[in-house]
Amino acid sequence: MALPPNVHDAEPIPAAARDAIDALMQSGDLFRYTASENAPVTLLEQEYAELLGCKFALAVSSCSAALFLSLKALGLPRDARVLIPAFTFAAVPSSVVHADCVPVLCEVADNYRIDMADFEAKLDGVQAVIISHMRGHTSDMDAIMALCDARGIPVVEDAAHSLGTTWNGKNIGTIGKVGCFSFQSYKMVNAGEGGILITDDADLVARAAIMSGAYEHNWKKHKGPHGENTPDLEQAFAKWQNQLPLYNLRMSNLSAAVIRPQLPELARRVRDGLANHDYVAERLNASPFFDVPAPLDPERRAPDSIQFNLVNLSEAQTRAFAAAAEAKGVKVQVFGLSTDNARAFWNWQFLGEQPDLPQTRAMLMKACDVRLPVRLTRAELDVIADILLAAAEETISKAAA
Ligand SMILES: *Cc1c(COP(=O)(O)O)cnc(C)c1O
Repeated sequence: MALPPNVHDAEPIPAAARDAIDALMQSGDLFRYTASENAPVTLLEQEYAELLGCKFALAVSSCSAALFLSLKALGLPRDARVLIPAFTFAAVPSSVVHADCVPVLCEVADNYRIDMADFEAKLDGVQAVIISHMRGHTSDMDAIMALCDARGIPVVEDAAHSLGTTWNGKNIGTIGKVGCFSFQSYKMVNAGEGGILITDDADLVARAAIMSGAYEHNWKKHKGPHGENTPDLEQAFAKWQNQLPLYNLRMSNLSAAVIRPQLPELARRVRDGLANHDYVAERLNASPFFDVPAPLDPERRAPDSIQFNLVNLSEAQTRAFAAAAEAKGVKVQVFGLSTDNARAFWNWQFLGEQPDLPQTRAMLMKACDVRLPVRLTRAELDVIADILLAAAEETISKAAA
């Protein structure tokens, strides 16, 4: 069998980033608000809003910061209840706690998407919702928006892992009131760290920008679509001047210089990532031991990893499968089985006592996660699929012996 590929490294950063970084090194102009106009962070915000098809973007230090600022910008009172899926990264409930709100967890189904019956049952008394499209799996946004719009509940999309995903042809992150994205290294665009929030709401972005650290009159460097002055935005900034705390969660020009040249690569990365994922999914789904859940009808995915459920394997067999795959060179994360996993809700002990979520728990005990960077070749994908299939065969035949 050929050697398993390295699935940890990202793609090289486009060469254009080096020139931009050299220029910044020369000038020392690393702070987004020093230049009178056209700072790399400002240009990134304009380009990102255009790419996604929305009015405003605010670049910040991480997706977690974007989620926190979204909740603050919604003006939620202390102890407001915020509904989140129980399958997400620990940063999501953490952002709710950081905003002095109380997370309410709802069940997630076997296909990694929000269980709509439990979602609806838990909506009463909730003042905001964060839809975390975990690992880029899109929950039923039509049903979610209908339920939330009917009750006037704002929806924040955690699109950290969904850049390039569409729902009925619309970009994920533009369906709710706010969309939040990550530029951490394991996401579709890699700056090591970084995040951005997008919205069409001038008041919301003005509040978020001030709280992100647009102190004094730095807000005047934030513009509307295509870098133009927008009366709505100026009025909103003037209204909120001196009214809000400054949390200083800004992005540095260096990060923006790393991100901007990657945006033109996005379409290719999405196309390759989806083709790679679907190729491995088809090979795994041909085996009785694997179930790779299908996307929802309106959803076009942009994956850089694959998730699958093991079919009818005991916990001991699931552990044996993961160990066999690892011995052959493919790291499989079973979300619920590794110690202290940050995606298993029972490890979010900072939340205090929580009701159990048996459906999500059962899913996490069998759901496997394997990285599939978009740069992998067909031959490399075959090595990964062969190893996973062989590990399952080996586990089952040992159990039968
Ligand atoms: C990565 C990730 C985050 C956190 O993003 P940071 O930029 O590291 O704060 C939040 N939610 C999901 C679904 C993620 O995948």
